[in-house]
Amino acid sequence: TLNYNSQLLNINQELEKLNLQLEELSQTDQLTKLSNRRHLDTTLAHELRRAKRYDSQLCVILIDIDFFKKVNDTYGHPKGDEVLKDIAGILKDNSREVDTVGRWGGEEFLIILPKVDISHAIDMCEKLRKKIKEHDFSLEHSLTASFGVTQVDTQKDDEYSLLSRVDANLYEAKEEGRDRIISS
Ligand code: GH3
Ligand code: MG
Ligand code: MG
Repeated sequence: TLNYNSQLLNINQELEKLNLQLEELSQTDQLTKLSNRRHLDTTLAHELRRAKRYDSQLCVILIDIDFFKKVNDTYGHPKGDEVLKDIAGILKDNSREVDTVGRWGGEEFLIILPKVDISHAIDMCEKLRKKIKEHDFSLEHSLTASFGVTQVDTQKDDEYSLLSRVDANLYEAKEEGRDRIISS
């Protein structure tokens, strides 16, 4: 029985490890290793509940790479993938442990910033905008990104109103000429 018990213990430990790996995998975007859309959705819902419960600050940033199609068309899809990985690295390197940085889809990224007010969120966007613009992606021209940013209204917002607003801000940043930040 002693041997049998220790075997069971080993199996349980192995299973626990695999479960953790599986959970990690189910939350991760394979290309960039950032949070995937599913994890962003659940995290946003969780953080929104927390912000409402404690009336604490919460900001969201939506980022879209400018003229990214041109990168694929000019250098090929694999190079586009490398650029996406580089961008992911810049976003991750310039955010805090408590922030959630994820790939929203295609060439769009979402950052969830708990306990941050709009002026600090705008500062962060400005830092990221500069880092991206100054980064050497080994392309002919410098690459830029557009930003929408917004702070949660804990009285009025739900996921839908919050995401609609940040998306509208990003759209306006594109309309006004890209490589800029629009906040509300
Ligand atoms: P805009 O400044 O208006 O955002 O222009 P854009 O070219 O960035 O926007 P558009 O939506 O026309 O193109 C996005 C491109 O992103 C098209 C698609 O092929 C590319 N894309 C999406 N996901 C991936 C990916 O995983 N890898 C690569 N290489 N390209 C991707
Ligand atoms: Mg896009
Ligand atoms: Mg784009």
